[in-house]
Amino acid sequence: MRIAVFNTKPYDRRFLTEANAPYGHDLHFLEPRLEPATASLAAGHQAVCVFVNDTVNAEVLETLAAGGTKLIALRCAGFNNVDLAVAARLGIDVVRVPAYSPHAVAEFTIGLLLAVDRNIPRAWARVRENNFALEGLIGRNLHGRTVGVIGTGKIGALVARTLRAGFGCEVLASDLYPDPELEAIGVRYVPRDELLRTAGIVTLHCPLTPDTRHLIDAAAIEAARPGLTIVNTSRGALIDTAALIEGLKSRKVGAVALDVYEQEADLFFEDLSNEIVSDDQFQRLLTFPNVLVTGHQAFLTEEALGAIADTTLRSAADAEAGRPLANRVDAGLIAPAR
Ligand code: NAD
Repeated sequence: MRIAVFNTKPYDRRFLTEANAPYGHDLHFLEPRLEPATASLAAGHQAVCVFVNDTVNAEVLETLAAGGTKLIALRCAGFNNVDLAVAARLGIDVVRVPAYSPHAVAEFTIGLLLAVDRNIPRAWARVRENNFALEGLIGRNLHGRTVGVIGTGKIGALVARTLRAGFGCEVLASDLYPDPELEAIGVRYVPRDELLRTAGIVTLHCPLTPDTRHLIDAAAIEAARPGLTIVNTSRGALIDTAALIEGLKSRKVGAVALDVYEQEADLFFEDLSNEIVSDDQFQRLLTFPNVLVTGHQAFLTEEALGAIADTTLRSAADAEAGRPLANRVDAGLIAPAR
């Protein structure tokens, strides 16, 4: 299949090219994002492969359909950037990668927690300056601490299990569907309010929905234990950034590690080192010594990228052969977070 791969980075090219050996698709890598101004680049391609921050709205879909595109292959789980109703009307199938490697995100979450809790990035910055003083680097054991895990699906369950069985934490959890296997190892499901009041560390793994948007807000921070550590590798808008900044300023929040950020679409995945970043909230976050931010990279492992590439190319092969599309996104589905 002739596939226009938009918004490609070197790692996308590497993993898609390697995974393509058994499929033999004709991959055409393009650097620009897919948006109305670039959609005509896909003319003559039966499939278009896109990522989270590409725009697949009605205007783009009309252009793609006119150019002969029959398949949108999202190389991610989320599909909130696609107008599914218009795609269906134009006869364009949409496929995604529903799960690639929960281990990638769960392990990164634990890494962020340890890094921020034990001041590892600050220590490394000091050592590079030949400053070996330890003042200001005192951390806390994870063992015995009470951690709240919000969302115990594929990723949250791995995090809860690791914290409970590996580190010996008291683990509280909140989910619409308690996991009996976690309960069997001592994870305790409690109402979200109680979790937020009781835990010393909170880690977020639920999707972004109207119910979970800004679940960490001024009221939650006010009710929390002083010195709360917050880790978010799920979706930026689970946290009200303005309230978080106030919580850090008042010292109610003790440490924060974020792989996702509410307004990340304007920042992440690009090298802006020569630009002026005009997001004042983001810049303020970076000034706190007890805040650690990474640019949405929790998924970025060899295994996850390999799985994303393979699933995407397999879906294209299925579409070309007229086989059922296992990872098809139906217009009736509610968009999950990425
Ligand atoms: P999942 O669907 O397996 O699990 C989500 C869990 O959240 C489910 O158990 C669900 O019941 C629960 N949930 C839904 N609404 C809830 C609510 N109101 N309160 C508490 N729990 C609720 O998803 P997953 O694969 O574990 O992914 C979790 C999140 O991780 C995703 O939503 C996504 O935002 C994020 N993610 C981030 C990256 C990254 O690179 N940072 C990569 C992949 C996924």
